[in-house]
Amino acid sequence: MCSKYSHSKRIWNISELVAPCSDNGNPLRGDRQNELLRIPHAYIAIQDGNILDFGPMSACPSEYESFPIFDVHNSLVMPGFVDPHTHLVFEGERAKEYVARLQGEDYLSILSAGGGILETVRAVRKASLEDLTRNTENRMRECLQYGTTAFEIKSGYGLTLQDEVKMLQAATVASHNIGVCISRTLLAAHAVPPEFEGNTDGYIRYMNQSIVPYVGEKKLAENIDVFCEEGVFSAVQAEEILKRGIQFGLRPKLHIDEFKSIGGLSLAAQVKAISADHMMVSNPLEFPAFCDAGGVAVVLPGTCFGLSHGRKDYNYAKRLIHANIPVAIGTDLNPGTCMCGSMQMMIEIAILQMGLTLSEAINAATVNASFASGLEFKTGAIEKGKRADLQVLSIQSLEEFPYRFGLNKVTRVLLKGIDFA
Ligand SMILES: [Zn+2]
Repeated sequence: MCSKYSHSKRIWNISELVAPCSDNGNPLRGDRQNELLRIPHAYIAIQDGNILDFGPMSACPSEYESFPIFDVHNSLVMPGFVDPHTHLVFEGERAKEYVARLQGEDYLSILSAGGGILETVRAVRKASLEDLTRNTENRMRECLQYGTTAFEIKSGYGLTLQDEVKMLQAATVASHNIGVCISRTLLAAHAVPPEFEGNTDGYIRYMNQSIVPYVGEKKLAENIDVFCEEGVFSAVQAEEILKRGIQFGLRPKLHIDEFKSIGGLSLAAQVKAISADHMMVSNPLEFPAFCDAGGVAVVLPGTCFGLSHGRKDYNYAKRLIHANIPVAIGTDLNPGTCMCGSMQMMIEIAILQMGLTLSEAINAATVNASFASGLEFKTGAIEKGKRADLQVLSIQSLEEFPYRFGLNKVTRVLLKGIDFA
């Protein structure tokens, strides 16, 4: 083998190459979100871990003939999913709480009684960095089996400087060990910890004087996020925290409008958040400003599926697309409201229940998700120069994706062009 091509590969015999790509460097919105390039009988040429070229096999340039062949035997290939919203680093589980909620208990009252997030906080504080890292790595491996090759990962179960840093370190080490692309988000404003009960402003002072500067200066995260919801952090408080993060180079993101709309979307527009997440009950009057600000709306079908028992309104994702806002899909993988890290499941709910088209949903889980995570220059699209983070599926055409719902259709995953076993 010629040494020039020692880091080269030619993916061959692709039944259909599903090739999401950005809109000239921007996320896909409105009608454009429904446009998806699909190339039958295709190849991809890979060099040094990145996509060098792609197209129909019949038009494959002869210069790639010497590239070693990776034959996928008439399978569909698409970019690995980018999960733009995860709480992947945690300890313990909350199955009893999940079932109690399905039977009518209210999430915010569970939280105010010291359960919910605070139960996970106690478990994370007790855990060692090694345990957290190992469990995170195991969870990442599981998600990889379902086609996810890049993750946004939030802290938010430590709520002290030491424990938030421990979570971000666990995410960093685990991703390094596996070789996946991640984007780390400081979410110290996930809940008010017990030692600051009744003193939210005191906790915000602690965060802004201690946690945010440390994480920003040590470059332990790329983004900052706030759980802006009634009874947790108000829009005014969220603004103070996000602005502090921006001072330290962190990009703003927001959890908003999951239960009540309290002005979070207007704030997301004002601070130019790269994403506003949940948005189940957002006020359409706030849509135009967010649309103009350029952020992505991250819808979380798994949380909606589990949390909104008795008040399901699945139409919200479609409303966002009609409002010309780019939509991404994430799992919200977390031990409270969504223990499912399968992006396939999320896409299936989005298509079968939320009314997204096949193309809208695949774009939402790949290219738009990369923008929502700040990973748009690295992964999540079939574009020359992007990482060759790819998945091979046991189907021949994309229509089989929702048709075979509930099954794991992924047979192989490539990270930077290398087969992940
Ligand atoms: Zn979340």
